Amino acid sequence: MTRPTDALPGLATRAVHDGQQPDPVTGAVVPPIYQTSTFVQDGVNEFRTGGHEYSRGSNPTRNGFEEQLASLERGTRAFAFASGMAAEDALLRAVLAPGDHVVLASDVYGGTFRLVDQVLSSWGIEHSVVPSASADDAAATVRPGVTRVLWLETPSNPLLRVADVAAWAVVARDAGALLVVDNTFATPALQNPLTLGAHAVVHSTTKYIGGHSDVLGGAVVVGDAPWRGEPLAELMAFQQFACGAVAGPFDAFLAARGLKTLPLRVERHCVNALEVARFLRSREDVAEVNYPGLEEHPQHELASRTLNGGFGGIVSFRPAGGVAAAHEFVRASRLYSLSVSLGGVESLACVPQSMTHASRVGTPYEVPEDLVRLSVGIEDLADHLADLEQALDAAAGAASGDSRGSRDTSSVARAA
Ligand SMILES: *Cc1c(COP(=O)(O)O)cnc(C)c1O
Repeated sequence: MTRPTDALPGLATRAVHDGQQPDPVTGAVVPPIYQTSTFVQDGVNEFRTGGHEYSRGSNPTRNGFEEQLASLERGTRAFAFASGMAAEDALLRAVLAPGDHVVLASDVYGGTFRLVDQVLSSWGIEHSVVPSASADDAAATVRPGVTRVLWLETPSNPLLRVADVAAWAVVARDAGALLVVDNTFATPALQNPLTLGAHAVVHSTTKYIGGHSDVLGGAVVVGDAPWRGEPLAELMAFQQFACGAVAGPFDAFLAARGLKTLPLRVERHCVNALEVARFLRSREDVAEVNYPGLEEHPQHELASRTLNGGFGGIVSFRPAGGVAAAHEFVRASRLYSLSVSLGGVESLACVPQSMTHASRVGTPYEVPEDLVRLSVGIEDLADHLADLEQALDAAAGAASGDSRGSRDTSSVARAA
C-alpha cells in the first residue's frame, strides 16, 4: 500500500538529485568524472565500495547517469551507450533470435529502419512496417507466434504523428511480444511509456537529454517485465557488458549534466514550439503545419491525453511555394542553423527528404520534398517570430521567381 510519505519527489527534483548525490569522500557537490578504465582490488576479487572492477562492466559516472535516467523514466534500470543506435542494437540483439519478426511503426527513425532492414536481416531477423501509427494496423501486421518486438516512436519524425502507447501495449501483450518505445522526441519530461505498458524505452541522449548538441549517446530503460522467463534488465546488463558499446565517463557526465535541466528546457521548448506553430499557421504562404499542439492536428485529443505538460519542441511545415521556398527558407533563416539532429538549446532547421530521410525516397514512406523540420530552441520567442517572418518573406520571394539562389544541400545529404 502506498502511504503519502512514499510519494515520489517531482520530476524536476528527481532530475537534479537521483543518481547525482554529492561525493561521499570529498563532499564534491557534483559527483566526479571517474575517467578510469580499471579499479584496484584489495585482494583477488576483493573490490572496493561499489564493487567496480572494469569500466565496460560498471563505472560510477555512467552508473550515476543510468540511475538518474531510470528514475525519470519510472523504470527499474537504465543502460547507457555510446550512441542511440548502439543502444537500439544492444536491445534488439538482447531479445531477438534468428527467425524472429519485428513490427516497426511507419515513422520510426531512419537509422532504426536501416539497422533492422540492412544489419539484423543478415542475422535472420524479419520485419514489417505498419502503414500508420494506429494500434489496429499494428495488430494486423503481427505474425502470431513469430513477432517478438513491436517498435514505436511517438510523436514521430518528421511528420509529428501521435500513437496511443497504451493501445500498442495491448497489441504487444496479446502477441506475446515486447513493446519498445523510442522516447527521444517526447522525453521523460512529457511521457513515460513504461507506465503505459511499454516494456522498454530507448533514447538518443544526443538529443534533448544531452540537450546542448555537444555529446553523442543512447540509453535503454526497462521496467520489471520478464522476457521469455528472464528479467529484461539482466539480459540488457549482460549484452552491455558482453558487447561493450558503453557510454564513456565523460559522455555520461555530459548527459547527466544535461538531464538535470531537462524539465526546465522542455518547458521552454514546448512554449516556443506552440507559438512557432501558431505563427506558421497564420501565414498564407505556409500550406501545412504539423504540430500535435494545434487543435486541428488529427491526433490533438490523443496527444493532449498522453503527453503531459506540452507537445514537444519539433514543428514541421510545408511552404506554399514548394521545394524552392523550403530551400530558400533554410538559407535565409538566421536563428535556425541548417543542420541535422535536434533537441539542443539552439534552433536547427532541415529539409528531411534530402537530408535525414534521403534513404526513404522511392519508398511508400518518402516524406514530401518541400517539408521543413524545425527543432525549436530555447531562445527568446520574439526573436523566433521575427526570424521566421523574414525567412518566410525571403522564401515567398524565391517561390515567385526572384530567388537569389538556394543553397546546395547535396553534400549534407551525402553526410546524413
Ligand atoms: C537521433 C535519433 C536516434 C539515433 O541516435 P544517435 O544518437 O544518433 O545514434 C534514434 N532515434 C531517434 C528518434 C533519433 O532522433
